[in-house]
Parts: sequence; C-alpha cells; structure tokens
Amino acid sequence: MRFVIENFGCQMNDHDMEKMGSVLIDQGHLPGSMDDADIVIVNTCCIREKAEQKFYSLMGRLQHLRRKKGTILGVTGCIAQQEKESIFERLPFIDFSLGPSNIHRIAEAVENATGQVRTSAFGDDGCSPSLLIRPHNTRRGVKGYVTIMKGCNNFCSYCVVPYVRGREESRKSGDVLAEVREMAERGIVDVTLLGQNVNSYNNGNKDLSFPELLSGIDAIPGISRLRFVTSHPKDISPELIACFGTLRTLCESIHLPFQSGSDRILALMNRGYTSSEYLGKVEALKDRCPGIALTADCIVGFPGEEDGDFEATMRLMETVRFDGVFSFIYSARKSTAAAALTGRVPPAVAHERLSRFQKRQRAITLDSNRAMEGTRVEVLVEGQSKNSPDELSGRTRTGKIVNFRGDPGLVYKLVEVDIIKGYANSLRGELPDTPGR
Ligand code: SF4
Repeated sequence: MRFVIENFGCQMNDHDMEKMGSVLIDQGHLPGSMDDADIVIVNTCCIREKAEQKFYSLMGRLQHLRRKKGTILGVTGCIAQQEKESIFERLPFIDFSLGPSNIHRIAEAVENATGQVRTSAFGDDGCSPSLLIRPHNTRRGVKGYVTIMKGCNNFCSYCVVPYVRGREESRKSGDVLAEVREMAERGIVDVTLLGQNVNSYNNGNKDLSFPELLSGIDAIPGISRLRFVTSHPKDISPELIACFGTLRTLCESIHLPFQSGSDRILALMNRGYTSSEYLGKVEALKDRCPGIALTADCIVGFPGEEDGDFEATMRLMETVRFDGVFSFIYSARKSTAAAALTGRVPPAVAHERLSRFQKRQRAITLDSNRAMEGTRVEVLVEGQSKNSPDELSGRTRTGKIVNFRGDPGLVYKLVEVDIIKGYANSLRGELPDTPGR
C-alpha cells in the first residue's frame, strides 16, 4: 500500500516521521502522494495553538478521503498523547492513534486497520523502541539526525512537552556512538543530535556526559559537522562551552532559547535563569568561539507581560545580536501552569509587540549576513536551489543558506565559497575559481 505522512512541528517530529516511514517501507509499503495514498498518517504537535488548529482542519479535509476511498487514517505524536482515547470521540473516523513513545507500533496499527481493528497506544515504553528505530535517511542526502534523549523535566510553565513526551530519558552512549558510526559508513557527514534538552543528557546516569558524547562523535572518521538541538540555558556547562572551538566537527552555532528578557517573566515561565545569567552564558560562548552564530526562541505577550518587560526583551535581543529568532505570541496550552495565570495581554498589544520585535530582528539578521560579504566559508552543498534550478544551495557551518552557481556534481560535497552578498534570509556566493571574477 502507498502511504503519506503529514508532519507538524519540530525537528524531533521530522525525525519521528522518517522513522515511521522507514518502518512502513520495511513492511513492504511505499511512499506515495495524497492522490494515491491508501494510508495517511498525521504526525502532530501541540506546542502552539496554531499547530493544533491546523491539525483539526486538516483532519476535517481528510475525512472526505476516508468516505470516498476508504483511506486508512492515523494520528501520531503529541496531540495523540494529549487527547488519548478521547481523540476517537472528536475524530471517530480515524483508525489509530499513537503517542510519541509508541510510534514503533505503526506497522501493527496499519495492519490492524486493514482488518477494521482500531489501535491506540499512549504508554511510555521506556527508552525505548521508538528511539531505537534507525531511519533509512532517504530524504536528506548526507545529513543525518540522531535522537539521544526524550522528554523533559523542566516544566516551563507554558510548555506541554513534559506532559506529552514524559520525563527525561537518555539513550545509552554506546548505542548513540554505534548509530553515528553506522551513519558515517553510509556517507553521512553532517549529524544533528536531537532531544528536548540535550544539555542534560545522562544527567545522574553512570554514562558519558553530553560533552563526552560530543568528543566521542568528534573522533568518528567521516563525520565533518556536528550540531545539537535543543539547549536549555541553565544546563549549558563550562565543559560544554569548552567543546566549541576545540572539537573539529562541532559547528560554530547554537540554538539557545531565551524566551524573555524580563526576569519577572522568566520567573513566571519557570525558566530557571535570569537575563544576566543568560547573557553570561552567551558571553562565554562568544569568548570561546568568536563568530559563533546564535539563534533562539522568544515568546511575546506572556501573561502579565508589561511594556517594561517587553522592552527588556528588546534590550536582550539588541545585546546578543542573534543570527535569527523564532518568535511567537504566547498561546495557553492545556494542563500547563501558565494557562491558569491572570493578566492576559490583549491580542492587539501582543501583535504590535511581536511585529516590532520581528522587524528589529530582521534588520539584525540582515546586518549579520551582510557582515559576511567578502569572507570565504565552507559550504555543504545540499542540492539545487529552490528558486533557481541552475544554482546550487548549501549551508555554512553556522547554518546559513548560501546559493551559488556550480556543477551539480558538487551536490553533497563540502566546498569553499566566497560570499558576495548578504540578504535577509540567505547569502549569495561564488566558487573561488569562477571565470570572469
Ligand atoms: S525546557 Fe521547558 S520549553 Fe523546553 S521542552 Fe522542557 S519544559 Fe518545554
């Protein structure tokens, strides 16, 4: 049968989608499109209200496929976990629902559906068959993703992750290293380690710490680039900071969500650091690794956020000069502590703050990209440019997109490129030996 997986959410969800696809391919199913699919799986995210609304509206549309062609429909991921059995009341036409720790049961769920048997699983199967699936990595060429831990113990007051993904659990370092070695043997050169809070990997376990794991991966022949997401500022240790600029493969970039620049709001968010502690970590990273690219997440309009709190957020952004920030308006999530807070920011005020924040951040990102003009950088070529088929597109070690003219034979290779122009979202480059320069 042919299958399609519609995905919402983060890189961990992308990776889960690849894992489910690999399990289904191993069972003899084939990837398809919405037009020819016999099975449609929707892998969900409930971090923000918008993603949840988009999911329910997609399910409304998919119901027609079900009626018309008898398509098997399944839901996986965070909304499945959040809603548990009640999802069948709201979506009575679906065949299965699996939480994030149960996606290894996807083939069984599909098999059951062919016999009209409904499957649901929302338990925590430990660390965990779902983490151990090794995806075929058909979509990403020489880039690979490895989940090193799952869950989170932090309980930030706005976040559903600890409720839907459970408590932190780390994979054994030996398993992670073996998986990366195997990826290197298959030609993967760029590895991203995934987890909700990778900095607390193996916290309290008698196994490698996170910096030790990075050193172990750094020593694996064939790996050229190593990254990780996501980091919690409070858990960035001096040992981890020391890895930057020391480990050959560790890319000069880090995603370090700050969420707010106001200490009062950070306390309400239960983030476990102050803005000056955050800035101290940023300074240490910049000292250790000059030119490191910093990206972050920020929430605007958190309950109780006054003008002065928002100005503190703007100041923090100006001080750090991030390469990019994913910024969102706060949305209340079921079961979270923040959902019960008073002092809701009126939507018009929150929108005005977000738009001011984003406008300023776009200008900072543009400045940072323009500052790269005249430099020569290493680019991992990922494929043809989306906007211009006779151009190639790749990424710097700092994660920036570079478009340039070059031979398609360079795809998946590491090449040196001279940056000639910085734009808001990308860089234009030229190969050093381009004729006529
Ligand atoms: S650190 Fe906070 S925001 Fe991140 S996953 Fe854990 S609870 Fe959610």
